[in-house]
Amino acid sequence: MQPIFKQTIIQREKQLENMMLDKFFTILLSIFLLVPFISIGQTQTSEFTAKGGAPATYKKIKLDNKVAYLNSATGKVITKSEYLVKFGTNSQGADHGHDHEHEFDDFKYYWESDKVNPYKDVVVTTPFKIEFDQATFTHPVDHEIEVTSRYGRRKRRPHRGIDLNLVTGDNVRTVLPGKVRFVGYSSGHGKTVIVRHVNEIETVYAHLSDYKVKENDIVAEGQVIGLGGNTGRSTGSHLHLEVRYKGVCIHPEYVFNFDGSRTIRGSELWVSNAWKTPRFHSAYKKSEVTPLVSEEIAKAAEKAEPRFYKVRSGDTLGHIAMKHHLGVSEICKLNRIRKTSTLKIGQILKVR
Ligand SMILES: [Zn+2]
Repeated sequence: MQPIFKQTIIQREKQLENMMLDKFFTILLSIFLLVPFISIGQTQTSEFTAKGGAPATYKKIKLDNKVAYLNSATGKVITKSEYLVKFGTNSQGADHGHDHEHEFDDFKYYWESDKVNPYKDVVVTTPFKIEFDQATFTHPVDHEIEVTSRYGRRKRRPHRGIDLNLVTGDNVRTVLPGKVRFVGYSSGHGKTVIVRHVNEIETVYAHLSDYKVKENDIVAEGQVIGLGGNTGRSTGSHLHLEVRYKGVCIHPEYVFNFDGSRTIRGSELWVSNAWKTPRFHSAYKKSEVTPLVSEEIAKAAEKAEPRFYKVRSGDTLGHIAMKHHLGVSEICKLNRIRKTSTLKIGQILKVR
């Protein structure tokens, strides 16, 4: 009912505008036409406010440094995610001003439904903070979790997600509440659904056999968003799940505990270079996770992490050493190579 009604208002407003340009008696006539319309409009709006849980009574507040909503009538506080699921609308009419999604910056910027990664021009430097307004999540598959491949180095290319075993046709559920940004096919990922959550974290569900949502749908936690499959660059049915922040892939096991506890590792997690770079991990081995809970801790951890450099055309050991404030002998020692060794384009050198 709501979107249709809104549409009617807009159409009537446009009609009115056109009429204003016409002759005087036409304007008079339009006023007569408008009178019953205004009264209907007001009645409808107030009914919506009352029936729809009166969003006007909710006040945006900060709780533990996070956005939350206080119901001034009952004193109850709900999270940003809960507010989204309660008052978000499953339509593209989000910018007509009658709903409350406009309060969510997370869905305002880089909201492109035709790109897997709309953040290509955004530079995210580490360490960066990701935030969650809930302590647990829902497993994306209904059966017991079986990890078949992890985030990290794999034979030919880095693996930027976690693979979970499933049978084609199994339900795939969104791990957190959010809004569907992308539903479509990509050559690598096959049939893919991407859900953006509050605080701009996105989860990517790939190799699906079917979709159960459409772009701009608001999804509750655990809602089925598609069915598992084997589409795209995939051998055997499985779910490839990615966790991204502004286009940067994060090791999913750094964020979500897949040990059966269904816990998120912290309400505030700092992501260091190592937790976004596949080279630091093996797809075949579980990485040990110690959550970085503050910027200071994350910065200290990152200082201790190794750094890598990919050799480009024209590079010499001398140039690379200078760039990273190292001596040539130090860089040789780090990489167990000789000063006279020939560098190959694309070769990875440890520079710390
Ligand atoms: Zn995968």
